Amino acid sequence: MKVLVINCGSSSLKYQVLNMENDSLLVKGLIERIGANGSVITHEKIGLGDKYVLEKPLANHREAIQLMIETLLDPWHGAISAMEDLGAVGHRVVHAGEKYAASVLINDDVMTVLEECVELAPLHNPPNILGIKACKELMPNTPMIAVFDTAFHQTMPAEAYTYALPYEYYEKYKIRRYGFHGTSHKYVAERAADILGVNLLDLKIITCHLGNGASVTAIKRGKCIDTSMGFTPLEGLVMGTRSGDLDPSIVSYIRDKEGIHLHDVIDVLNKKSGVLGISGISSDFRDIEAAVEEGNERAALAIKVFAHKVRFYIGAYIAEMNGVDAIVFTAGLGENSSKLRSVICAELGNLGIKLDLVKNNVRGKESIISRDGSKVAILLIPTNEELMIARDTYRIAKKYIENGIKIS
Ligand code: AMP
Repeated sequence: MKVLVINCGSSSLKYQVLNMENDSLLVKGLIERIGANGSVITHEKIGLGDKYVLEKPLANHREAIQLMIETLLDPWHGAISAMEDLGAVGHRVVHAGEKYAASVLINDDVMTVLEECVELAPLHNPPNILGIKACKELMPNTPMIAVFDTAFHQTMPAEAYTYALPYEYYEKYKIRRYGFHGTSHKYVAERAADILGVNLLDLKIITCHLGNGASVTAIKRGKCIDTSMGFTPLEGLVMGTRSGDLDPSIVSYIRDKEGIHLHDVIDVLNKKSGVLGISGISSDFRDIEAAVEEGNERAALAIKVFAHKVRFYIGAYIAEMNGVDAIVFTAGLGENSSKLRSVICAELGNLGIKLDLVKNNVRGKESIISRDGSKVAILLIPTNEELMIARDTYRIAKKYIENGIKIS
């Protein structure tokens, strides 16, 4: 079966088609500037070499998905010869609240839940919903599956997800820790178990998804028991532009001192803080690392603050799980910055965490980077959220067929 994976943002759409007989990627693409001037599709057929780029006005997500379908059907660049070749579509959806702890076949009830969760993820769920609606309209006979960022974290115990606020806020408004990047944390934890040749159910793993957005998750016997992002993706680690944890009193203090609105303060915390805020240079670690080389002290401080927070969570999760067998680094920074990995792991030897500086000199490739004899294995595992979405989509679509409902 061929599966289409869609990740719909407010003005962009990423897609991939995978052949689930062997998990191979056939094509991938990105449509940008949907609803703005200069809409453009960049499409790549794996193995063909060159990329296909086309500028075409796209007023909305429906038009973008129409263009994606035309491109997928193209005899040269495409991946399918007829729409029936697509067995199912997997949609990345950010927020499912407390409703779903696993991926689901999309029906009217699921759509209602996604609409209800718009309040919890106002930037992410609306474009996710638009993408699903447009696909349902253009591919009415193809099963659609929703794969949620929040689902993997639904196994957290109440003591990990409950904020110490008046309990009625949880009951009335569902204010609690949800956690994000769940598909990525789950994928790398499963890969870590495979690479180590140990059953996931026998492992305590700390996964560090360090990208522009960043989070750390404690995974015990295959289940998430805690994660650093919270009610929104603003909590937890220091990130590219996000502050992560801070004293809530700072919010009103900045508002009063700067004479700005509350929502502008939140905007500062989301878009102007993190390593960008500390360094004053960039949210991109490549720029920050380059500035450190030139002796920039604030850039050096930004990296130290970032690493301090990752170590803080690693330590907390070791305590929560009463030990750790493996620590995994993934996402843009976790996969590429050997420097940052070495700063994070420095002087954790007494906890049995010993990085091998030679093995650590690697980028974007599955590797064990701990020293021989390190009690805790340290791994670099490139994340692959799309493959995870495709696998869930395939599994659920197959069940759908087995229940006797014909799909293309
Ligand atoms: P992601 O959000 O997972 O795509 O990660 C993007 C971030 O990864 C960028 O903003 C950089 O901070 C970081 N990154 C990517 N490549 C490198 C690299 N070669 N060295 C250091 N950081 C990198």
